[in-house]
Amino acid sequence: MPESGKRAAIGPFTYVHRGRGGISVRNCVPDTHFRPEISGAERATVCGRRTSLGAVSTSEPAGRADAPQAGPALDRLPEDWDRALAVVAHPDDLEYGASAAVARWTAAGKDVRYVLATRGEAGIDSMPPEQCGPLRTAEQVAAAAAVGVSVVEFLDHPDGLVVNGIELRRDLAEAIRRHRPDVVIGSNFRDRWGESGPWNHVDHREVGRALPDAARDAANRWLFTDAGEPWAGVRWIAYASSPASTHGVDVTDHIDAGVASLVCHGTYIDNLGEGAFDPDAFLRDNCHQAGKTLGVQYGVTFELIPV
Ligand SMILES: [Zn+2]
Repeated sequence: MPESGKRAAIGPFTYVHRGRGGISVRNCVPDTHFRPEISGAERATVCGRRTSLGAVSTSEPAGRADAPQAGPALDRLPEDWDRALAVVAHPDDLEYGASAAVARWTAAGKDVRYVLATRGEAGIDSMPPEQCGPLRTAEQVAAAAAVGVSVVEFLDHPDGLVVNGIELRRDLAEAIRRHRPDVVIGSNFRDRWGESGPWNHVDHREVGRALPDAARDAANRWLFTDAGEPWAGVRWIAYASSPASTHGVDVTDHIDAGVASLVCHGTYIDNLGEGAFDPDAFLRDNCHQAGKTLGVQYGVTFELIPV
C-alpha cells in the first residue's frame, strides 16, 4: 500500500487483546509500519472483530497468550473452483497473508492471476513516482512468481487517488471478462482495520467496494459493451485482512512461500528503516494468530461475499 516515508503496506493481522475479560484473540490489521510510532503494547489494543476463541487468564505471559484455545471459529474457504482473479490496489497488498493462500492454491493446480489498480508509485516518500513505480512493479511480479502466479497486470490508476467510479468499474469488469475467474480475491475494503483500528487506505476502500459491482457489470451484456464478452461466472469475492472475516485457509504448508513473496518487496521494506520490519517474523506471527481461528498452525482469513 502506498504511504509516505516510514509508512508502508498493511496486512492481515490477528491480535492478542488484553482487556477486562482477559486475553483474547482478535482479527485486525495493525499498521506495523503504517504507524511505526505505535508501541507493541498499544498495538495490542488496536483490534477488530473478536473471535469466539474465548478469554484466557490475564496472568498468561504475553508470549504464551495463545496457550488455551477453543475450537475453530471460522469456516474453511471453499476451494471447489479452478480460477481466481486477485484484485487489489497496490503492490504488496496481497503479500501480507493472502499470498500464502495463493501458494496453497497454485500448488494444488489452480489458476490464480493478479490485477493491480496502481503500481504503488506514490508509496515511498524518499523516491519519486517515476522511479518508484517501475521498481514496485518488478517487485510485485517477483512476489507473484514466488507463489506460482505468472499473470500480473496493472490498470495504471493513480496511486493514492483511486476512485470507485465508472472508469474503475469498467476496467475491473473488462479484466474480469478477459480472465473469466470463478472467484475473486480482494483485500479489506472496510473503513478501518478492525472495529477500533486505524483508518483504512482510500485506495483499498475504493477498489474493494468496486469489486462486487464490477463483477455484476461484467455479467451484464448491456454495460461496457466495448469491454469484452460478458462473464457471469464469478461466484464470490473473498477479502483478505478483513475485520469481519468469515472464512479461513490453512496455509501451514505454504507459509515459507508466503514469506518469500513478502520479502520480494525489498524496496518498500528497506525504506521502512533498517531493522524496522522483519517480514519473516511478521508473517509467521500473524498467520499463526489467524491459524487459531481455524485450529491450524498457520492460516489466512477472508470475508466472503457472494456476488
Ligand atoms: Zn495498499
